[in-house]
Amino acid sequence: MQMLHPFCGSIQQYEQQLSNPNRYRPDHCPLCHAQDPLRAHGFYCRTLVDVQYDGSIRVCRYLCLLCKRTVSLLPEFVLPYQRFSIRVIGLFLVSRLLSRRTLGEAAGAASQPNMPYQRSQFWVRRFNQQATALCAVLASLTTVLAARDLLPRALQMLEAIGWIPAHRFLFGELRAHLLFWPRFLIPHGCRVNLSPTPPSS
Ligand SMILES: [Zn+2]
Repeated sequence: MQMLHPFCGSIQQYEQQLSNPNRYRPDHCPLCHAQDPLRAHGFYCRTLVDVQYDGSIRVCRYLCLLCKRTVSLLPEFVLPYQRFSIRVIGLFLVSRLLSRRTLGEAAGAASQPNMPYQRSQFWVRRFNQQATALCAVLASLTTVLAARDLLPRALQMLEAIGWIPAHRFLFGELRAHLLFWPRFLIPHGCRVNLSPTPPSS
């Protein structure tokens, strides 16, 4: 199970503080809810593309001594099951959908000048499908309701709240994904998908 790492800072600062996995060790197991059963259980590596970063990061893993399941702490600048950081996706979507830039210009704004057309279209399509639900869910976090149309309104709300704080709320509180959960997680019912329609890819 993935949980949010309660750490704010840069990728470099994140990597540095991993030398002490006990520093942010959760005080309870989110799966069986036992108190203080988690022990450091190494790391796994995942790829990450940020504005000025393209590589892999380590993710802390913990083992519950009671239920024997593992919990990993995902840094809050990444989205579960997404190689691209929240910052990159946010910069692209704001540029493309709010500032009405071309796909190429929006990719450049996100420091991804060689982004494939399919990926950019996929993000736009997924965000379009999330906009209505995001407007409803994020309304408790901001009073910004400038745009009448849901798509620009959702983006303005995310900009006002901050994309990472919004993700912290969606994932940390609601187990909801800013864009979409991968298909293999949907049928299990353990995650909340904001979208009324399941993802097609
Ligand atoms: Zn447990």
